[in-house]
Amino acid sequence: MAPTRTEERMSTLGSLDVLDDVAGASLDRLTDLAARTFHAPVAFVSLIEVDRQRLISRKGLAMGDSHIRDSICAHTIGSAAGLVVNDLTVDPRFSSLPLVAGPPHLRFYAGTPLIAGNGVPIGALCVMDSVPRQFSADDRRQLQTLGMAVMNELELRTLSGRRDPVSGLPNRHQFSIDYAARSARSPGLHCHAVLIDVLDLPRANEAGQVLGMAPLESLIRRAGVRINLALEGVAEVYHVGTTRFAFMVDLPDRDAIDRLLDLLRDDLTRPLMAAAVPLSPQFHAGICEATLGRDSADDVLRKLMIGVHSAIAGRVHACWYSATRDEGLRRSYQLATDALQGLQQDQFHLVYQPRFRAHDLCPVSAEALLRWNHPQLGPVSPAEFIPVFERTALMDNVTAWVVDHALAQLAQWRQQGLSLTLSINLSARDVARRGMADALIAGLHSKGLDCTDLEIEITEGEWLRADSLPGEQLQQLAAAGIRVAVDDFGSGYSNFGYLTELPIHTIKMDKSMIDGLPSDHRAQLKVQAVIGLAHGLGYNTVGEGAETDEQVALLQALGCDEIQGFALSRPVSAAELAQRLQAVPCAQG
Ligand code: C2E
Ligand code: MG
Ligand code: MG
Repeated sequence: MAPTRTEERMSTLGSLDVLDDVAGASLDRLTDLAARTFHAPVAFVSLIEVDRQRLISRKGLAMGDSHIRDSICAHTIGSAAGLVVNDLTVDPRFSSLPLVAGPPHLRFYAGTPLIAGNGVPIGALCVMDSVPRQFSADDRRQLQTLGMAVMNELELRTLSGRRDPVSGLPNRHQFSIDYAARSARSPGLHCHAVLIDVLDLPRANEAGQVLGMAPLESLIRRAGVRINLALEGVAEVYHVGTTRFAFMVDLPDRDAIDRLLDLLRDDLTRPLMAAAVPLSPQFHAGICEATLGRDSADDVLRKLMIGVHSAIAGRVHACWYSATRDEGLRRSYQLATDALQGLQQDQFHLVYQPRFRAHDLCPVSAEALLRWNHPQLGPVSPAEFIPVFERTALMDNVTAWVVDHALAQLAQWRQQGLSLTLSINLSARDVARRGMADALIAGLHSKGLDCTDLEIEITEGEWLRADSLPGEQLQQLAAAGIRVAVDDFGSGYSNFGYLTELPIHTIKMDKSMIDGLPSDHRAQLKVQAVIGLAHGLGYNTVGEGAETDEQVALLQALGCDEIQGFALSRPVSAAELAQRLQAVPCAQG
């Protein structure tokens, strides 16, 4: 079915992107010029929607938008030559309109249609007066010229908002518009979308600092040219992010896409001279399937980003969108958005896993471990939600909650006569928060506890340096008497420099070091070496995640000081732990 005039007009207005726009100074200047040229007290630019007239620029008129039946311009757009009404009060079409019959009692109207590049009239530029007037052929021509200038201004504005200033290629906005048009033309069509990143951001930042922006922009521009040329006749290329280009292709299968991307990669990654510096564009691609009319442009771009990020993270050239990864990202997002409410609604609680002195397996301390019972997702492991929180300011709230509840619990144990100490896990972000050490020490004092009652567990990483804020805060905690344990020792990071620089008391050997103990001689050597190193430095050692009696016996034999693991106790509630300790009192070691 052929589109109606109104549909054509609305689609043109939509693609010009003028409906949601404010007028802008240059458009107002043209309106002003129209009023002055014809010595008219009133001039305005109107756009005609389905049933409304919108005034996007006006002079001398207080009125805003109106219904289309009160619009004279709605008549103007029907005639290419425009519309002149010398005296509105004698024209039966207009005499009873609010502007004519009521204040400001306008009598004269001259309007010229605004005709878009595709030939569709979308509105009008008009001048009005409160007295009847004549309008010569010359005046009409002049108004027409001003109308064209208004139309140019509208189209220019859109054009400039739709091309990337660096590459000159159509931008993300244009991608969305073209994608919607494609979807309207061929709903249900399956096709593929590709996003190519020509310079991953850490590199771009590095290069920007060294070279300045000019070579970078040149690289991006020239990469755009290469992609555009390589895909000439195959696909339209869009510059959708600083270093990212997207296109849609209609190829039969994944193999065909992979072949296309191989060619593109070879072409793109050849070195080029960018502002006199030889550089090579990078190549990371994300690919996804799209069903036109079902997936929106935003869906497609989001899926492509997931693909590109997988490619960058996995250090491979291209990755297809993965629904599993998408689901994981959405779940993480949900965890982050639900956390604060969860804290307020008591969805979180702490459990305590005792740590045992190796030589007599007497429980000497307990580690507070956070649990979240999410109302929709059920129990969520801290191994999942802590890394999500750590990337946001949420960690601050969660740690404050943990510290508060764990210290209150410890105070209660003290009142019950239990002497065990408490360990709390802190993330790198916590230790890097200024004032954290002061707050923790104040928290202990406010509950009548000693600093020696507490140990904090931190994981090793780049951030553990003495000459940093985290390093300073650790010194402050240790000086007050709080012990510092290195958690998950041996699970990856292996720069031991911090071991002698920072005030460490305990090394907790990661479960992965303990797992192989019974069967792997080399695992025993490793544990033995770590215990030797720790003792040499005067530190205490803990074997984490011991699940079998054999592992416990081996840790004892190797001289480990303390053991924590399911073989001895799982994490339990505070009440259960107190009950157990009261039932089996422990001799002081
Ligand atoms: P982590 O601090 O290394 O804690 C030890 C984890 O290993 C705990 O898991 C514990 O339940 C588990 N575990 C202990 N013994 C065994 C064993 O014999 N076998 C097995 N398979 N697992 C054992 P959980 O409670 O799921 O905690 C996971 C991680 O989440 C913790 O590792 C810690 O890094 C983090 N976490 C937990 N609570 C907090 C918290 O309050 N704050 C922060 N920042 N992190 C926390
Ligand atoms: Mg821990
Ligand atoms: Mg650990």
